[in-house]
Amino acid sequence: MPCVVPVRDALAGVPAYSQGKTAVAPAGRPAYKLSSNENPYPPLPSVLRVIDKVASDVNRYPDMSCSELIATLSRALGVPGESIAVGPGSSGVLGQVVQALCDPGHEVIYAWRSFEAYPIVVQLAGAASVQVPLDDDFRHRLDAMADAITERTRLVIVCTPNNPTGPAVTPAELRTFLDRVPPTVAVLVDEAYREFVVAADEARVDGVALIDEYPNVIALRTFSKAYGLAGLRVGYAVARPDLALAIRKTAIPFGVSSIGQAAAVASLDLAEELMARVSGVVAERARIVSALAEQGWRLPETQANFVYFPVGERTGEFAAACAAAGLAVRPFGVEGVRASIGEPAANDLLLTVAGAFLDAADPSGTSHP
Ligand SMILES: *Cc1c(COP(=O)(O)O)cnc(C)c1O
Repeated sequence: MPCVVPVRDALAGVPAYSQGKTAVAPAGRPAYKLSSNENPYPPLPSVLRVIDKVASDVNRYPDMSCSELIATLSRALGVPGESIAVGPGSSGVLGQVVQALCDPGHEVIYAWRSFEAYPIVVQLAGAASVQVPLDDDFRHRLDAMADAITERTRLVIVCTPNNPTGPAVTPAELRTFLDRVPPTVAVLVDEAYREFVVAADEARVDGVALIDEYPNVIALRTFSKAYGLAGLRVGYAVARPDLALAIRKTAIPFGVSSIGQAAAVASLDLAEELMARVSGVVAERARIVSALAEQGWRLPETQANFVYFPVGERTGEFAAACAAAGLAVRPFGVEGVRASIGEPAANDLLLTVAGAFLDAADPSGTSHP
């Protein structure tokens, strides 16, 4: 008998989130996963020991209020604990934010192309996405995003650095934008890659620091990228206490595991050591970016742990060339390919594939993308 159970209309056409592919090794050679912007390094030994220790208690529920993690974050960030909402990855927290703010008929504005989870969480809430195309340099057009605000707008998402293209919004650009946003419209600053931005503190967007001045700002951060805990699913939002309370109300009870909470606390205690690793990734990024430029590539300016190749119609072809070499990367339709900065050997392989691809595209070496 066929199943005729009706599901919500809002689900029609919800795109499935496609996970970054796992790399397949060519015969006799290693494979590398550069498709999900993960940290290439395993957790620090002391974090692994904490994970091990907490593992023996998993017959018990986790602390539902994440009190130790919130207290640790509160100290690290210099904000009250009531301003923090922790959730299962920052994509989980993002879902909570949209659930907390949006009813059917409301609009959420964000740049496009940007993080694939945005259209999904917006549609699941029954709200409507308003996508504002990036400019020719693959940056946010914050003026156009402000222009797109209507009385139906509840939320604007600013992804900086932008996934998958890489450029970061500057603090001055963000302020100019925030000055145009009505105080009733929330602005979520997705800072998943903030640790990879090379700039003096005052030249790097800090959503947390903006909350006093702009009470409609929500900063979104994660332990998945720089902190290397993608598999444990811990992220958080920082906002004014009443907003943070609303974001906590839409959480799935016990959504953050005891192991995730403990590993996040341990990682915050080791921030210095972890940031040294981030510096290593950033140094590799600088090496790759200049080598690609030397090959003739003109790429958007990345401030994250990935590079973006806007190869258009040749996206599938470029991703296939990477796969044949043992590199899993992330293709986006007929727009471009994102490749994470990985371990040096993986990055070397990416350079080889990218160089060969350009030479094949243009044997005369006269015109380059
Ligand atoms: C990776 C990423 C996240 C974080 O995802 P988690 O759910 O925390 O693992 C959030 N926003 C963007 C833009 C990302 O690329």
